[in-house]
Amino acid sequence: MNRREPYVGRFAPSPTGPLHAGSLVAAMASYLDARAHRGRWLLRIEDLDPPREAPGASAAIVDALARLGFGHDGEILYQSTRDAAYRAAFERLQAAGHVYPCACTRREVADSALHGARRPRSGELVYPGTCRHGMPAGRQARAWRVRVDAAPIAWRDRHAGTSTERLDETVGDFVLRRADGLWAYQLAVVVDDAYQGVTDVVRGADLRDSTARQVHLQRLLGLPTPRYLHVPVVLDAHGEKLSKQTGAAAVDPRRGAQALDTALAFLGLGQVGAATPNAFWAEATARWASSPWMSESS
Ligand code: GLU
Repeated sequence: MNRREPYVGRFAPSPTGPLHAGSLVAAMASYLDARAHRGRWLLRIEDLDPPREAPGASAAIVDALARLGFGHDGEILYQSTRDAAYRAAFERLQAAGHVYPCACTRREVADSALHGARRPRSGELVYPGTCRHGMPAGRQARAWRVRVDAAPIAWRDRHAGTSTERLDETVGDFVLRRADGLWAYQLAVVVDDAYQGVTDVVRGADLRDSTARQVHLQRLLGLPTPRYLHVPVVLDAHGEKLSKQTGAAAVDPRRGAQALDTALAFLGLGQVGAATPNAFWAEATARWASSPWMSESS
């Protein structure tokens, strides 16, 4: 593969719970891809939503990754330390007229004229643009939204190829600063991927639906768009994404070899049966390097 810039990948968990079988797959895919490209692999803890944070989860994730033999490069970046950077990006968008205050409650959005307009897969509401030209008289700003338009946003997944999305149809103007004053994931992830020089985002397919929003923000902020690769997410018995919210069990580092093999098999690369994490990672990297995950779709 020809690339001019050195590869920088990352794993960016939200500390809403411990590392579980699903997040291990995302961590592994990004780590193997970075190793196969002889690149750097960064760790970023997306702790920008204290109400959703589980006490001790950040430390537990970092510890579990270390015990499983993941070696991250450089310092861990904590989003909780990055308020000034998100604010600066937000103010640039504001100065350029791309954001506006919104008074709508969730219920009002749900009850609005476009009631029923939802994203096909996630079921998220499409914002109907109620406050786009100003808030109704006497109402207070709750959230801040970024404007989207009807121009199709095309982006490429290394494996799945190009997709095109019209954000006005799929999400509408979306929130950058929430009613509780917290920064939205979409803003923080774009600011930090650029700040950390990330060239390749490898993550779970549940975030594929977010990518067009992120590309939109990158363009408005004049930031580079990384390459993207989305890998399948692990589902539970009810067909739901395995997640901390649905109580997925923590990976037990004492049974690390087994957990690593299970994740690798989920990625379609079989099991290694290695005696040590180092032996596991050497063999797993070799398998990833010659797998379809490394070949470009057209
Ligand atoms: N923090 C997000 C999560 O845990 C992942 C962000 C990303 O990879 O872009 O789901």
